[in-house]
Amino acid sequence: MGKKQRVNGELPIQELEAPPLFRIGTWSGLPIWQCNLCEWDTLDGEAQMMIHLANRHMPQVVERAEPLIKTFNTFGRDTTEEVTDERK
Ligand SMILES: [Zn+2]
Repeated sequence: MGKKQRVNGELPIQELEAPPLFRIGTWSGLPIWQCNLCEWDTLDGEAQMMIHLANRHMPQVVERAEPLIKTFNTFGRDTTEEVTDERK
């Protein structure tokens, strides 16, 4: 285990605010980021968790999400659906 992560030993891990997509626990005294959506976990920090969430889970979330921005073509027709479809 390298020293790439700076761990504050007094960090009140239980009080950290974490999005519900993952949780932060402890593993052998180290903080461990555990995915709430699957069995995946990492000791490498929140950035790695975010990458995991984006790669593994976000595509499903994006498909279900309503488009944040409505788009219209030059004739004023709502093309939001068409633009959304192009991302697939
Ligand atoms: Zn996961």
